[in-house]
Amino acid sequence: MTMELETIRQVPKVALHDHLDGGLRPATVLELARDVGHETPAGDAASLADWFRDQSNAGSLAEYLKTFSETVAVMQTPDALRRVAREFVLDQAADGVVYAEARWAPEQHLTRGLTPAQATEAVRDGLAEGMAQATAEGRPIIARQLITSLRHTPPRRDITRLAVDYRDDSVCGFDLAGPEDGFPAVSHVAEFEYLRRNNVLFTIHAGEAAGPSSVWEAVQLCGARRLGHGVRIVEDVDLTTGRPAPGGIAAYVRDVQIPLEVCPTSNVMTGISDGIDTHPVDVLLDLGFAVTISCDNRLMSDTTLSRELAALSAAFGYDADDLLFLTLNAAQGAFLPLDERVQLIDEVILPGFAAVTG
Ligand SMILES: [Zn+2]
Repeated sequence: MTMELETIRQVPKVALHDHLDGGLRPATVLELARDVGHETPAGDAASLADWFRDQSNAGSLAEYLKTFSETVAVMQTPDALRRVAREFVLDQAADGVVYAEARWAPEQHLTRGLTPAQATEAVRDGLAEGMAQATAEGRPIIARQLITSLRHTPPRRDITRLAVDYRDDSVCGFDLAGPEDGFPAVSHVAEFEYLRRNNVLFTIHAGEAAGPSSVWEAVQLCGARRLGHGVRIVEDVDLTTGRPAPGGIAAYVRDVQIPLEVCPTSNVMTGISDGIDTHPVDVLLDLGFAVTISCDNRLMSDTTLSRELAALSAAFGYDADDLLFLTLNAAQGAFLPLDERVQLIDEVILPGFAAVTG
């Protein structure tokens, strides 16, 4: 039996792939823009929300990424970063998310004189405020930040180091994002080696705007523990025979259960999939890949995690057990210590699903 949106909102969920600069409230963009004299493409919250959705729905990752200049421009002060981080947590909690990782690229938030450390601390403080407020409102949530670097800018050790320096202080790992095609992850290999030497977990956006060779590079040359999107790994699976046959890198990713951070609506908007009902997520799940579901950018994709799961339930008939399975995959893939993941599963996710779905 499929699950309705309202029911899905009530079950505990885990959001692994959510960009801090892709999830602002439209009203917040407007207010922050006014504070710093930034001109926005629309003057009221509803029109601005439409603008983000329409501009992002362009059929290519490069076009989709252009809208971020509007959000990044208003996230250049400690107060703005703290507010956006706080609202990130509150909005996730309101959607029933119990664990969320917020990823963002500090190097993009230094135009008004912030140091990378000051920016990281502002996000840390905002996450803490959001967690405290959500808990006080009866919706406890754990939120962490992922320090992101960008494929198309030169590696910066001072940025990478933030993932080491703040690892016990709100930062749970590292991410590489940005335009995939033409900007190989291997250009950042020295940073990944530095992270591995320091035992820092990291994920890499790969298998989104490029195919299996990009996934291979992220996993085998760089050492990614998770894959942002990763869905084009399906191109390394022979689906023409009765029994699908994974190729070398597809088999590896499946067999060692590297979590795929799948963001269905985002993939439709960037042209990876024609629609949710033709998205490769169902094939990947069938083949045993460690599929997790996220939003990517709630503002640009006009979505929430509950809506992503509801869309999958409607398209593929996923029932409560299927959604629990996806949620457990995500919890197991969280960049949290093992004991905290076990506690999240045993004390929050399993009883939370049981309470709602019986
Ligand atoms: Zn992403």
